[in-house]
Amino acid sequence: MSPSPTPNTNTNSGPNVTAAARPRVVVVGAGLAGSCAALALATAYDVTVVDAGPALPGASDVGAGLVNPLLGRQGRRVWRSDEALTSLRALIVDADAEYTVSRRPVLRPAQDDRQGRKFRESAEENPQLGEWLTPEDCARLYPFIHAPLGALQVDGGAIQIRRFKVQIQAKARERGVTFVRDSIVHAWDAKSDNTVAVRLGSNGHAQTLAADYGGLATSVWRWVRRCSA
Ligand SMILES: Cc1cc2nc3c(=O)[nH]c(=O)nc-3n(C[C@H](O)[C@H](O)[C@H](O)COP(=O)(O)OP(=O)(O)OC[C@H]3O[C@@H](n4cnc5c(N)ncnc54)[C@H](O)[C@@H]3O)c2cc1C
Repeated sequence: MSPSPTPNTNTNSGPNVTAAARPRVVVVGAGLAGSCAALALATAYDVTVVDAGPALPGASDVGAGLVNPLLGRQGRRVWRSDEALTSLRALIVDADAEYTVSRRPVLRPAQDDRQGRKFRESAEENPQLGEWLTPEDCARLYPFIHAPLGALQVDGGAIQIRRFKVQIQAKARERGVTFVRDSIVHAWDAKSDNTVAVRLGSNGHAQTLAADYGGLATSVWRWVRRCSA
């Protein structure tokens, strides 16, 4: 975000804050990142989210939604995974999004002996997150999955990512967030008076949105557009 908002402990119902007095934030991108940011900011800011969709989907419309804190070829623990999982659980409750979540574990069959060794080490180092399953365990628990070298069973889950995003947006709307659809942001100017001006256009009409703070949550989509232009 530019410039960074000062942490604000006021809430909608706080005694000194009226809707008119709340600082304005514009968030570009209504994927999972932008929608979550909008929901979180809505307690203290007047938030507008601008998105180019639905013409082109973002990653949040197509992602598999696996929640997997032991990632990569070696099943390494994801950076700050504890905080991420704690925040995710809180977000699911706050957004009433339990119906989008499956808590079945993520299974990662080892592709070769080296990976099997790494997965075993990872399970030993992170017993709260993962368990090593021998080939016999796999055959018993998951007879329909081919895992002749064993597998790392991760205490993760899966989220129907698009429905999750839509649910978060519905909650954000309830809390006063405005979503502007079908508008591509073309430019972003930080002004000397510490505000930002965002130039956007839809159907050939250009418009400028002024705000006190701005955040970009545009993911890789921007680069796809740039590459294909
Ligand atoms: C095939 C696939 C599988 C995946 N599987 C997993 C998984 O299993 N687990 C996991 O954790 N993650 C997974 N991911 C990653 C995850 O989906 C993304 O990290 C996440 O959805 C990114 O969200 P985002 O909000 O940052 O971006 P996006 O969802 O891409 O949202 C960006 C938004 O910005 C808008 N936008 C961009 N530029 C502009 C502009 N100039 N003006 C206006 N709007 C603009 C776009 O329209 C879009 O709606 C997967 C991703 C893919 C593609």
